[in-house]
Amino acid sequence: MRAAPVRAAGKVAKKTARKKATTPKEAGDDSTIARLARMGLRRAIDCVLHLPLRYEDETHIVRIADLQPGESGQVEVRVVKSEIQYRGRRQLIVEVEDQSGSLTLRFLHFYGSQVKHFEPGQLLRVRGELRGGILVREMIHPRYNVIRPGEALPDRLTPVYPASEGVSQTLLRAAIKRALASADLADTLPAELVSKLDLWTFERAVRTLHNPSADADIEDLLERRHPAWRRVKFDELLAQQLSLQRARLLRRSRQAIALTARGKLTDALLRMLPFTLTGAQKRVWSEIASDLSASYPMQRLLQGDVGSGKTIIAALAALRAIENGTQAALMAPTEILAEQHFAKISEWLSALGIHVVWLTGRIKKSERSTALCAIEDGRAQLVIGTHALIQESIGFRQLGLAIVDEQHRFGVDQRLALGGKGGAREPHQLMMSATPIPRTLAMTYFADLEVSTIDELPPGRQPITTKLFASSRREQVVAGVAQTVKAGGQAYWVCPLIEESETLELKTAVETFEALRKALPELSIGLCHGRLSSADKAQVMEGFYAGSIDVLVATTVIEVGVDVPNASLMVIEHAERFGLSQMHQLRGRIGRGRDASTCILMYQAPLSNLAKERLRIIKESADGFELARRDLELRGPGEFLGQRQSGVALLRFADLLHDQSLLEQARDAALELLRDTSGPVERHLHRWLGDRAEYLKA
Ligand code: ADP
Ligand code: MG
Repeated sequence: MRAAPVRAAGKVAKKTARKKATTPKEAGDDSTIARLARMGLRRAIDCVLHLPLRYEDETHIVRIADLQPGESGQVEVRVVKSEIQYRGRRQLIVEVEDQSGSLTLRFLHFYGSQVKHFEPGQLLRVRGELRGGILVREMIHPRYNVIRPGEALPDRLTPVYPASEGVSQTLLRAAIKRALASADLADTLPAELVSKLDLWTFERAVRTLHNPSADADIEDLLERRHPAWRRVKFDELLAQQLSLQRARLLRRSRQAIALTARGKLTDALLRMLPFTLTGAQKRVWSEIASDLSASYPMQRLLQGDVGSGKTIIAALAALRAIENGTQAALMAPTEILAEQHFAKISEWLSALGIHVVWLTGRIKKSERSTALCAIEDGRAQLVIGTHALIQESIGFRQLGLAIVDEQHRFGVDQRLALGGKGGAREPHQLMMSATPIPRTLAMTYFADLEVSTIDELPPGRQPITTKLFASSRREQVVAGVAQTVKAGGQAYWVCPLIEESETLELKTAVETFEALRKALPELSIGLCHGRLSSADKAQVMEGFYAGSIDVLVATTVIEVGVDVPNASLMVIEHAERFGLSQMHQLRGRIGRGRDASTCILMYQAPLSNLAKERLRIIKESADGFELARRDLELRGPGEFLGQRQSGVALLRFADLLHDQSLLEQARDAALELLRDTSGPVERHLHRWLGDRAEYLKA
């Protein structure tokens, strides 16, 4: 059984539980309602869609004597005696028997109230794995029910639901049974669609999942391959497709300033550049330019591997906004990156007489108020900075275009905040990402965006050789650094990622810095990490750009965007801790100049199989798309989604790796349904998303 959908279900539950509950009439007392609501189970249909994790087979009984050690089964027994013992720890020991033999039940965790279930003479049905040999036969923490004499065996498998504190299986089973009796289970899909795709009806699917008959194929149910699951997953994917596709259609009814190809600024920049655009750059620029000329807001994602040349596209788009008399904003996730954009873009744009303003959370008060004035009165034609741009109440005179670099790090909420900056007319939005989004994700979580892809690197790039070194060969690696610098190059030394503790990560970075300084006294070594003040960070980075720093020891703050062509060596310590896409991002910092570049992945032996696989893949592939796809396989979608998942309904049941063809069917069906009448669309969205359907219209 897979764990991910369960976690996902928990998150959704938490998220929705905060909203005001609409009380299901058929549910029991208040506290039950409140407890279910906390799990997101507010309407009867929510309970119907709360599907089992697994099943218990209580439909038949074996004799104690027939059960072999290591085997699981259900026995029907009578309690002989029970007592609480202290054998190292407090435990409840229950002796039970049937006609064929006896058995010990052992509970290490138990409630006081449980003890009364084990009065001598009490009948029980007990399920668990038999342990021990000839002398001791026991079950540890078996599941059991208290029964009456002659009580019939169930003829259906017993569902086990995702539960949470204070909500027992018994309570859930009762609530779901009531819900199945009262909820509207009529199909939300047109009958033709159901038969065309050979789907089960909704009612048949949910009834089967909650109450499979004893002869149902348990494997298929658990693996979620069963036709009943297929129908539920299809519905879930369809709801997601409908809401995203609809958001995309609704965008067309909103207002933005049409940014047409009127002025000469973009042409001037193209003439000024020391290079010509690649074919891929030309193509994405024309896609973007065409979107910008519409009078509804663009929401386009520009994706392209590291070094594919997205910055120039951003600059062109900004100029298009400026030549139409509006302002543009460019936001980056880190100060380092924002600063680098600022340096590069203002170099290009100031030659054209454009007023570029720099804004971060940390600039001096006086500079800040000057900047804010210029933004408000419109003198600032392009504003570059970090999140601070949107987190505070900054009034643009007329924001025509907002560019967000590394958009996968920005949540939907932030995107919406930016959307409000243009007044009645929304700014166009261009999101840029160097993490290519695998196709299934582009079709699901990003389906409300248009996507442009730069799938070609500028000419003349040096290939990067990737090598693996065990950390025991550190001295050799250090010697390699010295050699690179001697030959006129520069190097990055990336410190281990320590996800659990930022403090520890910092400490390791400082230690690495000290150790390298000692080992390479003739070199100039710099240190850059997230806790430095922006002034200190800027100073280190400037030193590295200028070449006065030979080796830059850094945490993953350099992951995105940093561009120093002379750096031709990168060492990544504890590479086994990084994800594929992350390593690829890091590695993209080199191979930008004339010299052939090398990336050394140092790892700490022994490696887990997963880590071995990751390192093998990264060594062999330089293709960001391929790596992103593999990363999705190895790590799941969380890595790509970042905060984005907070706003969009997570998939609880469907699985992007295994359900790709179902996803494609759902997408096609969604497009068709949206073209037709809206009746089924509304009913379907209401069933699956409830009041979240409203939120997703935004
Ligand atoms: P990224 O897509 O990673 O943001 P950049 O925009 O930083 O990539 O571009 C990487 C480098 O390639 C920069 O130095 C940039 O000036 C250069 N570059 C961009 N486009 C071209 C091109 N068509 N020909 C040559 N060099 C280019
Ligand atoms: Mg970039």
